[in-house]
Amino acid sequence: MTDLSHASVVITGASSGIGRATARAFAQRGARLTLAARRGDVLEEAARECRALGGDAVVAPTDVTDPEAVRALARAAQDRWGRIDVWVNNAGVGAVGRFDAVPLDLHRQVIEVNLMGALYGAHAVIPVFRRQGAGVLVNNVSMGAWAPMPFAAAYTASKFGLRGLAASLRQELAEHPRIHVCGVFPSMIDTPGIQHGANLSGRNVDPGPYLYAPERVAEAIVGVALHPRAEVAVGFPAGWARFGYGVAPLPTEAAIGFVARRAMDRASRAPLREGALRHPIPDGTHASGGWLDRPGTVEAGRANTVVLGAAALGLGALALSLARRRRA
Ligand code: NDP
Repeated sequence: MTDLSHASVVITGASSGIGRATARAFAQRGARLTLAARRGDVLEEAARECRALGGDAVVAPTDVTDPEAVRALARAAQDRWGRIDVWVNNAGVGAVGRFDAVPLDLHRQVIEVNLMGALYGAHAVIPVFRRQGAGVLVNNVSMGAWAPMPFAAAYTASKFGLRGLAASLRQELAEHPRIHVCGVFPSMIDTPGIQHGANLSGRNVDPGPYLYAPERVAEAIVGVALHPRAEVAVGFPAGWARFGYGVAPLPTEAAIGFVARRAMDRASRAPLREGALRHPIPDGTHASGGWLDRPGTVEAGRANTVVLGAAALGLGALALSLARRRRA
């Protein structure tokens, strides 16, 4: 695809966080969106935002754990826009806590949304892509699919599973040169995701200071829709997780485990909560989760640019002084 103007794009989990930023990014390029999540009123707001940005949008309140609802979502997009060019499996939830302290139904919900929801999405849209002879399926995976996160066992299992699902589909569809299965693997992103997640750890979950803006992931998703790639990391930590787990899985796993256990031990106490897993909650309707508004926090992408810029200047100055010394 060379142009997203009038492209029909379906996004699940479009009411907040990365999904909402992604809807905006496609809308800015004139796409026709079908926005899905459970909170219909919040989706209406997102759709208005997309229209104001130059795109067009309809909403389709959908619970992605219901395969029939996901099929209906695909039908709604086709009925409204006549085709589906891009399908973004983005809806996702997490449950933090000691594995055996998290009730089984919450573990199950994490797998149902993150893995089964994406599988239902793929199952609904691939026949459409086959009929059209073209289409891009984008899964919002996570760096957690490259490096296992302790205290988030179902989340890790769902994202490892999603990566495998995508790889398998990619090979199955390899003989269709215009059908693509892509994945983006974000690092930690400033979204309402932690607010929406369940926390059964009894400890405060803080994403820390090294956070990327959701717009970075949105641009990566738009990027693979235009120029499909199998797997794209968003942010340094995701790239390192991929590299570390690729070359030395057990030491990487042990290092992550050590850091996570230490962070959990040191975190302040917090009440138990189930977030938006069983039912949607009204809080958290923006792309950002507000974490980057905390004083002293700099967006990681911007911080990297400053550090790389300073390093380039330092190297330049060093080269200049060496050249001068040699001339002298
Ligand atoms: P948000 O909580 O802001 O977004 C999650 C979205 O999923 C919401 O729109 C929510 O809307 C929707 N959703 C939840 N449950 C369901 C359901 N059963 N059916 C349909 N929609 C549902 O968090 P993020 O933006 O952070 O998360 C988006 C994706 O990004 C997830 O897949 C997550 O794993 C991934 N990710 C996030 C990272 C981060 O650091 N934030 C890092 C790596 C990956 P509603 O409640 O209205 O249904």
